[in-house]
Formats: sequence, C-alpha cells, structure tokens
Amino acid sequence: MPLANSAPTTADAARRLLVDGRLVDAERTFATLNPATGDVLGHAPDATAEHAKTAVAAARRAFDTTGWTTGKEFRAHCLDQLHRALTEHLQELRELTIAEVGAPRLLTHGQQLDEPVELVRYYADLLRTHPLTEDLGEVEYLGRRHRRWVEKEAGGVLAAIVPYNYPTQLALAKLAPALAAGCTVVLKGAPDTPLITLALGELIARHTDIPAGVVNVLTSSGAEIGELLTTHPGIDMVSFTGSTATGRRVMAAASGTVKKVFLELGGKSALIVLDDADFAAASMYAAYMICLHAGQSCAITSRMLVPRRHHDEIVERVAAALDRVRYGDPAHPKTYMGPLISERQREKVDGMVRRAVAAGATLVMGGKRVDPGFFYTPTLLTGVDPASELAQEEVFGPVLAVIPYDDEDHAVRIANNSVYGLSGAVHGRDQERAIALARRIRTGTFSINGGNYFFSDTPFGGYKQSGIGREKGVDGLEEFMERKTFGAVVA
Ligand code: NAD
Repeated sequence: MPLANSAPTTADAARRLLVDGRLVDAERTFATLNPATGDVLGHAPDATAEHAKTAVAAARRAFDTTGWTTGKEFRAHCLDQLHRALTEHLQELRELTIAEVGAPRLLTHGQQLDEPVELVRYYADLLRTHPLTEDLGEVEYLGRRHRRWVEKEAGGVLAAIVPYNYPTQLALAKLAPALAAGCTVVLKGAPDTPLITLALGELIARHTDIPAGVVNVLTSSGAEIGELLTTHPGIDMVSFTGSTATGRRVMAAASGTVKKVFLELGGKSALIVLDDADFAAASMYAAYMICLHAGQSCAITSRMLVPRRHHDEIVERVAAALDRVRYGDPAHPKTYMGPLISERQREKVDGMVRRAVAAGATLVMGGKRVDPGFFYTPTLLTGVDPASELAQEEVFGPVLAVIPYDDEDHAVRIANNSVYGLSGAVHGRDQERAIALARRIRTGTFSINGGNYFFSDTPFGGYKQSGIGREKGVDGLEEFMERKTFGAVVA
C-alpha cells in the first residue's frame, strides 16, 4: 500500500571531515541523493589519501603519547558528553537519516537512531563498572610462589568502516565501545550515506572534550580510502561492516600487517515455520521482517521454510500480509517501508528477481519499481530452488522466497545450506521444540516466536562467512581490548 511521497528534495547539508581535531573541507566533493526522490540532497567532502594518512598519524599520536588510553574516568565523561550531544541533536539527526538513508521515521525511533544513541550511554556505564583485571591466583613453581593476573587494555588504533544501511547504528556500535576501551579511531562512512556520518564527527568536535586525533571521520566516493586504512601500518585493528565480498578483501588486505580484524558481513537467514505454529503470526512476521528497511537489513529472514502440506495456505497469508505493508514517503509517520538506497541497488534486486523467475520460480506478487525515488514493491517468490542464486545470495531488497520442507531434519538441512550464519527465526507453539530446533542452526542470533535478540547488552554477530567477532554488550567492549598476562614472584 503506497503512501504519497512528500519528502524534502534538497537540503543545504554540506559538511566537513574531522581530521586531527579540526573540521576540514576537501578540494573535491561528491553528491549524496535522497533515495525517496532521486534528487541531490547535499554534497560531502571526498577525502584524499593525504587526509587519511593525516588522520591515521593523528590517531596514532593520540594513542601512543596521550593519557587517553589510561584515563578511564575521562573517557566515561567524554562518552556522557557524546550521548548528551546526540540526544540534544536527535531531531536534526532524525530528519537527516530519513532524507539520506531513506529510513522510515518509525525505524529512526528504533534501530536507526534512538537505540544506538542509548548504546553510547550503555558503554559509558559499562566502562565504569566492568572489571579490567582478572586475578588468576598464586601457584608454586620451581620452589617459588607466583602470582598471575590479566589486565585488559586498549587494543590500539582502530579503522572503523561502515555500510550505508544503518550508518549511525553501525558507527556508534564501533565508536562507543572502542572509545570506552581506550582506542583511537578513524571512522569511514559509506559513499551513499556520508552526511549522517559527518554529522557525528561535527558533534564530537563541537560538543565533547574528546581530544584531537582520538576520533577522525572521513567520507569518500570510492573504495580507495577504505583500502588505504586496511593496509596502513599505523592501524592496529579493523572493524568492518559490509558485504561478505568486501569483507574478504578487507581480511586479505589486513593480513599484510597482521591486523586484528572484526567483520560483520552479509546474511541469508531462514525463518522456519513448524507445523504447530500460529500461521497467521508467522506470516505477519515474515512479511514485516522482509520489508524492514526495504530488505536492506543484514539479519532479516529472507528464506521462509514451511511444512510442504501447509505451503499454499501460508503463501496466501504472507501475500495478504505483504499487501498491507505501507510503503512510500519515509518521512510519513505511518510508512513502514521506504526506498532502496540507489538505482544501482534497485537494478541489483530486480536482476536477481528476474533471474529467479527465468530459472523457474513463480512471482506471486511484487517485483515492481515505483518512481520517483528508488522504491521496489514487496516481492514474494515460490518454487525457488534452495541451491539457486536467490536462495543462496543476499538480495538486500524486500524479496522473500518461500521454500517447502518435508520434515524437521530437512528444514535444518535447508537452513544450514548457506555460506552465511548471521541469524534465524522459528515459529512453533511448542516453545521447547522450537528452541531445540534453533540450537541446530549455525547462526549467531535467533528469534523464537518473534522474540527480539537485539539490545544494547546482547552480543550480535555471525557464524561462518557472516563474520568474525561480536558487537554490542560486554563482548563488544572486549573486542577492542588486548589482554596482558602478568606473572610475579611473591615469595
Ligand atoms: P559494502 O561492502 O559495499 O561497503 C561497506 C563499506 O566498505 C563502505 O564504506 C565501502 O566504501 C567500504 N569499502 C568498499 N570496498 C572496500 C575495500 N576494498 N576496503 C575497505 N573498505 C571498502 O557494503 P554496503 O553495500 O554498503 O552494505 C551492505 C552490506 O553490509 C550487506 O551485505 C549487509 O549484509 C552488510 N551488513 C552487515 C551487517 C552485520 O552486522 N553483519 C550490518 C549491516 C550491513
């Protein structure tokens, strides 16, 4: 159900890079579009290799020669300031997120904005309470007593590279724990959503005591700045979120200087509907999941596995639920689904749908472009071969494949037949049976009967080629820390 598009078409939103504590312009800029209209929204500085090298040198200096890494109380104070600045500028950030990311207003009240702002407060609090030493007690060794303990300390200079789909959530899920841990950071925004990332840099420069060089923010139109950061000897760690294809390149590039690599990559998660499930609830969940941020969410369930004998009934229910999804102007408070980020992304999504149909799948509904902007209608496919491109590759659009299974073992085999392992979901009235099935799926997160696993204190990350490491929670803090093991003779 489309909602009329009344989003603003332009904004005077030119912004600056943050390099070594100064907000700076670049000689060249690049345009960023409003995906709901296709019009130019603003211009962002196109950082050069020189900007990146200066940023790394500043972050290196701040890490190696200042008290930032050891000043725990000061860091907590700076995170409090950042939280306050984000809160005070929330409305401005909200409108920019809607205009640049195409995120529906509703979603900015959750994962796109309000939740990650709270994550900053969470890490300020955690820093004050989380123990940074672990006592391993004393032992006798060669006739002497030895006391052993572990101290956790800042991991080093971090390159944080983020994708376009949840730019603030992903930037803050790296920045907040990294700063809490005592790291210094060079953050690089995505080419399609530079303004919202630059806005973070401006808030840090203007409203916090975070010292020069501790946080640097770069944007660029191409991949070169990211490549430079992943090979630069001044960078100790890379925290990357993006596609699995780019993640492989990042990991290979970082191997030259043996950087610690943290990866949050793609997904092709399965929703398994058990034969005792509430089919109406499961179908509603499937429809609203696949349309979450127009399918541009890494952990959504894009394969729906249903008992073969209930296949047609469930397909009918899902089609009815998809038909009720309100899409259109992301600024409208009732819009559930906005546009795809770009024409390029829409081409990719449409190409995958066309190829699936050519390979024998049935297009039950959707598969249509809606202009102006980069909208793509909620799309449902059946008869999709579980080994085919559409069932194996991430679409990153509102495209759901319903696949029948014969018994639970068969459902588990189909769900696990993926290079990805980010998330999954199960619906079934017998909760214990549903949980037992979830334990058999090789993924980092799982939803039982619509349950939410995504909070500030819950670790998030993937198995297999969906990534390495965990973001958020205590695990998210410890990702950015080194452990130093001590042994001292005491008697
Ligand atoms: P992308 O991989 O194209 O780009 C991500 C970032 O990497 C961008 O900033 C880009 O400029 C940069 N980049 C590109 N080439 C690079 C290189 N060679 N070296 C270093 N950096 C480079 O991803 P995208 O299209 O912006 O985002 C969509 C992808 O992100 C999807 O695959 C999605 O699943 C994934 N994602 C994963 C998670 C997660 O938590 N697992 C969360 C959000 C998005």
